Amino acid sequence: MARCLVTGGAGFIGSHLTENLLAAGHQVVVLDNLSTGQQDNLKGLLANPNLTFRSGSITDPVLLAEVVHDVDAIYHLAAAVGVKLVADDPVRTIETNIYPTETLLRLAVQGGCKPFFLASTSEVFGKNPKERWTEEDDLHLGPTSRPRWAYGCSKAIDEFLALAYYRKYGLPVVIARFFNVVGPRQVGHYGMVIPRFVDQALNGGPVVVYDDGGQIRCFAHVREVVESIMKLMGTPAAAGKVFNIGSDEPWSIRELAEAVIARVDPKIRIEYLPYSQAYGDDFEDVRRRVPDVSRLEQTIGTKPRLGLEAILDDIIAWKRQQRASTTAR
Ligand code: UDP
Repeated sequence: MARCLVTGGAGFIGSHLTENLLAAGHQVVVLDNLSTGQQDNLKGLLANPNLTFRSGSITDPVLLAEVVHDVDAIYHLAAAVGVKLVADDPVRTIETNIYPTETLLRLAVQGGCKPFFLASTSEVFGKNPKERWTEEDDLHLGPTSRPRWAYGCSKAIDEFLALAYYRKYGLPVVIARFFNVVGPRQVGHYGMVIPRFVDQALNGGPVVVYDDGGQIRCFAHVREVVESIMKLMGTPAAAGKVFNIGSDEPWSIRELAEAVIARVDPKIRIEYLPYSQAYGDDFEDVRRRVPDVSRLEQTIGTKPRLGLEAILDDIIAWKRQQRASTTAR
């Protein structure tokens, strides 16, 4: 049994990770300021004596030192996330994503090189035109005048820092680049497409697709992503490496909208909205984002495999249940 710190543990991915760590018999300290996370995500876990919830910000170095002191391993997931949030508040993105990571890495070394998981993102690849992206591919970020790239750039700095701590101090860091992780508890306020489409469809439509809907993404179920994180952290050969974690099944956003509509109500229509109206004039999208996950598969013997249809069924069932319980209250 280990004592684990999960920063951002009340968030979408963090709360699923917390649940799995507790189920595996570990003790978990969650640090979250509930800015984008919600205490409700830990509902059912808060009574567990192996869980400690600390409300606070990762930008508070004194608090970080205190929580790191009490743990054996660190899972750093707290960050400013979501294309919409990042476009709206680039200062918060940079301040939340860079300095606290550096502080945490230093504390991990000072505490005797505690195993460190760093959540990164497929955004670091930027607009790389390759069909499938391997971890060693070049980063193609856009200009600094477009706030979107602040997110990928801030996470790339985190990766450089973590790898430097691995090389210089032997800190066992595992870095994962998430590719469009989805599932129950994800909310649409920060731009994420699936919860938005599902909410729009359950409200009777229309489903609002940006641009022409020809942009390509791969969607992975959070359950499989969290399993991959835990396997990587249990594999010594993963230390000092970057891993793509995601599904490698490409879907266009138009096909995604059609799949949601087919499940909720085939009469719902699609509306197309230009990016300038969705995000403003200085926005740029990534046209195609498909990972090569062979490094992950070779290292842990598995990769996210659940197909989009099954993922959508799970999310729609969860949303329906959530709506029913809100109405019943
Ligand atoms: N998207 C959309 N409608 C929405 C939200 C997003 O058509 O209400 C598109 C968005 O332009 C992008 C894709 O869906 O091409 C995935 O968006 P998301 O923000 O979920 O993730 P991204 O891959 O852009 O980080």
